[in-house]
Amino acid sequence: MKVFVINCGSSSIKYQLFDMTDESVLAKGLLERLGNSGANLQHQGKTGKVEPECSAKNHRDGLALILESLVHPQYGVIENIEQIEVVGHRVVHGGEQFNQAVRIDNKVIKAIEDCAKLAPLHNPPNLAGIAAAKEALPKAVQVAIFDTAFHNTLAKRAFVYALPYEWYKKYGIRRYGFHGTSHQYVAQRAAEMLGRPLSKLNLITAHLGNGCSITAIRAGQSVETSMGLTPAEGLVMGTRGGDMDPAIIFHLAGKSGMSLEEINKALQKQSGLLGISGLSNDMRDIIQAGKEGNERARLALEIFTYRLKKYIGAYTAVLGKVDGLVFTGGIGENSVAVRQRAVEGLSGLGMLLDQKANETATGGQACEISAANSGVKILVIPTNEELLIGRQSVEVAKELGEA
Ligand code: AMP
Repeated sequence: MKVFVINCGSSSIKYQLFDMTDESVLAKGLLERLGNSGANLQHQGKTGKVEPECSAKNHRDGLALILESLVHPQYGVIENIEQIEVVGHRVVHGGEQFNQAVRIDNKVIKAIEDCAKLAPLHNPPNLAGIAAAKEALPKAVQVAIFDTAFHNTLAKRAFVYALPYEWYKKYGIRRYGFHGTSHQYVAQRAAEMLGRPLSKLNLITAHLGNGCSITAIRAGQSVETSMGLTPAEGLVMGTRGGDMDPAIIFHLAGKSGMSLEEINKALQKQSGLLGISGLSNDMRDIIQAGKEGNERARLALEIFTYRLKKYIGAYTAVLGKVDGLVFTGGIGENSVAVRQRAVEGLSGLGMLLDQKANETATGGQACEISAANSGVKILVIPTNEELLIGRQSVEVAKELGEA
């Protein structure tokens, strides 16, 4: 069965076409700069990478271009688009309504629209992708997979903020959590690697990419996670600072004369690694500059890993006992220094790295990096959100008897 997985951003479409009979990737790519005169498509099909010239005003045009590439006479991978039976859409915010993948119908679209007030930058392009796919592939089953769904198992004590309770009831202000598909995927892989059922494991999964979040997982269920109402809370990230005193906003507005909008922009786009270092939001640049003696880059790395360590400690307390700690995302999968600093000094919690294994764990291979005498297994697992979206889409289609 051919499953097409798409992830629509405001000006981009990321996609993969799977043959789910063996979970192989037939094609994948990224279309960027939608809306501009020259869009940029990087498509990888059976003849390797191609970058056809193109332009696309919106998601509808963009999807049409991608579908053309999939059936292209030279680099296409299927004969006609009707071979795509299922489309899996990554949707960022599913609010409280969705705790699993669902077939998209008008009610689901309305619910995603309602959640757009909680994710104004993400849900609208997701909806644009859904509309485009429904139009271009009317016979395919359309499935929505929500970034928030995996965290719908959080207990009230974990998701209610200590704020006036009516704000939760009236405005939906609560912790939702994000990166759910990634945390769920690496948890499943960790169970496979440890050779134990997920239902018997307590795991801490750290997704460290441009956005960063960490989750405590008991028996396969998310019980605590660092992102909150929005993806701004929790760990230090590329351009977001994560946890902070909310009074800073009002202090700053009073002292600096910045508008709320300007402060929000600074919190979302000019904070985190970029804000501390003044240099870059990219961990590679931060580490390199630190090696060259840049003090603020060193500080950025120190704050990033210190905050991460505090969360590992807190989530160890939440779980009581931890079987596995997983690093994933661009930084988690590749940065020897981040993993080493985050785990340094945690032998009291049963976490000990094997220095050599940590140093060689780069380049997209899942592996164990804990020392033989570490009570907690420490793992590096490349995330694969698209594959999990593909799997869950197939499950939904099967339940409907459409696959
Ligand atoms: P992601 O959002 O998961 O694609 O991760 C992107 C981030 O991964 C980038 O901002 C980089 O900082 C980080 N990254 C990628 N490769 C490395 C590396 N070799 N060392 C440190 N960080 C890396």
